[in-house]
Amino acid sequence: MYDILIATHNKNKAREFGQLLKDTKFQFKTFMDIGYDKEIVEDGKTFEENALIKARVAASMGYIGLADDSGLCVDYLNGAPGVYSARYAGEPCDDEKNNDKLLDALKDVPNEERTARYVCVIACVTPEGEEFCCKGVCSGLIIRERRGKGGFGYDPLFFFPEFNKTFAEISPEEKNSVSHRAIALKLFESEFKRRLNII
Ligand code: IMP
Repeated sequence: MYDILIATHNKNKAREFGQLLKDTKFQFKTFMDIGYDKEIVEDGKTFEENALIKARVAASMGYIGLADDSGLCVDYLNGAPGVYSARYAGEPCDDEKNNDKLLDALKDVPNEERTARYVCVIACVTPEGEEFCCKGVCSGLIIRERRGKGGFGYDPLFFFPEFNKTFAEISPEEKNSVSHRAIALKLFESEFKRRLNII
């Protein structure tokens, strides 16, 4: 039985995966636990490619490797910022600058053309080289000014019609009930358990 290595330095991501795996017989670690502090170059053109790049690094160390990649895709911008979401306005990553750039890019765009979706892909790679990905998508609209103080990233501009609020105006529990990440995690959980024949 292999241990699982989650390819992240982010404590929040590690906790989310840990919650999910807590009733399984797997032990899990993150890059922080094994002292791996190198930055992995995420130069894929899709969320799948980037998640797989990270999960393969973890699998190459003899673990079942898990990784996720996510971002915002705006239809009017042909899917941008997409895999460049974190550094849309350049480096170092800055959520405020990213939101300003997005508002500017959409300033003359009518409401009905401001559709967008958050996407999250979770990749799993075994040491034997078996690979699979699960994708979660959450659709909304980009509004014209920031609303709300919660969430992170593009959440103040991401209006979710079912709640009639932005993702920065809802509670973490509400966000977790509908988000791209939560959907991908649920799909991943059942696929992972099915493949490994665990309950
Ligand atoms: P990563 O998957 O941690 O690399 O996230 C990429 C980027 O996508 C983040 O830095 C945010 O800009 C954006 N993003 C991904 N998920 C969310 C979300 O749930 N809310 C707001 N922004 C997000």
